[in-house]
Amino acid sequence: MRIFDPHIHMTSRTTDDYQAMYDAGVRAVVEPAFWLGQPRTSPESFVDYFDALLGWEPFRAAQYGIVHHCTIALNPKEANDPRCVPVLDELPRYLVKDSVVAVGEIGYDSMTPAEDTALATQLQLAADHGLPALVHTPHRDKLAGLRRTLDVVAESALPVEHVLLDHLNETTVGEAKDAGCWMGFSVYPDTKMDEDRMVAILKSHGPERVLVNSAADWGKSDPLKTRKVGDAMLRAGFDEDVVDQVLWRNPVAFYGLSGRLDLERAEPADVQHEGNSILRGGE
Ligand SMILES: [Zn+2]
Repeated sequence: MRIFDPHIHMTSRTTDDYQAMYDAGVRAVVEPAFWLGQPRTSPESFVDYFDALLGWEPFRAAQYGIVHHCTIALNPKEANDPRCVPVLDELPRYLVKDSVVAVGEIGYDSMTPAEDTALATQLQLAADHGLPALVHTPHRDKLAGLRRTLDVVAESALPVEHVLLDHLNETTVGEAKDAGCWMGFSVYPDTKMDEDRMVAILKSHGPERVLVNSAADWGKSDPLKTRKVGDAMLRAGFDEDVVDQVLWRNPVAFYGLSGRLDLERAEPADVQHEGNSILRGGE
């Protein structure tokens, strides 16, 4: 089983996770820029983070045979913090980089006017740079959040077929599908979406434009959830081709809209990144 996790925050994960992901079949990931769990206090903090998503983290992933791309954005939560909003002016110089395959995560957290502005601004940036957009839908008031998101997308210059709406569930999948978006499902331990519910959604809505991710980060999460969904699909009677469509071909097609997806560069070119390696104490 070959697996592309289209949404995982590897910066927060260990080398053991990379090894376990490789052993489970993960060969490619996309790491969206997001909130770090505590507030940033200036745009400079974002700049260092973006640089890590473009440099150190792909290097680390390559040591485990996994291709790493990223998405860059001001995340919805920090769009409300006036100390962070000026990072919008830094985004254009990142959005031209080779391994940036979308603008994201953008979208709504608490559905404030500041989030409206950041979402509309960044959808325009995506359109201007020929990139698709990864749009986070809120964990509270999900259906209202989805409808407001679809309204802003409809008013934007970005075609709806270039938008991936993430963190969908049974409540929101129908309207997201009817709108023509790509549909992302984050599968978590204990809460929100799980493997069996994911299989049920695939049975009722089909595999077209569906992506499954672990959204693993610094919180309680599981970087092997993609594999667990693949196994659950096989147990439920889906054939291997449909599993491959959901766990590999769909994410390749969505991020391929950027024209920048390079899945050939899995093997590590160097054992050092700017003089540092993942080994402790040198060779
Ligand atoms: Zn995320």
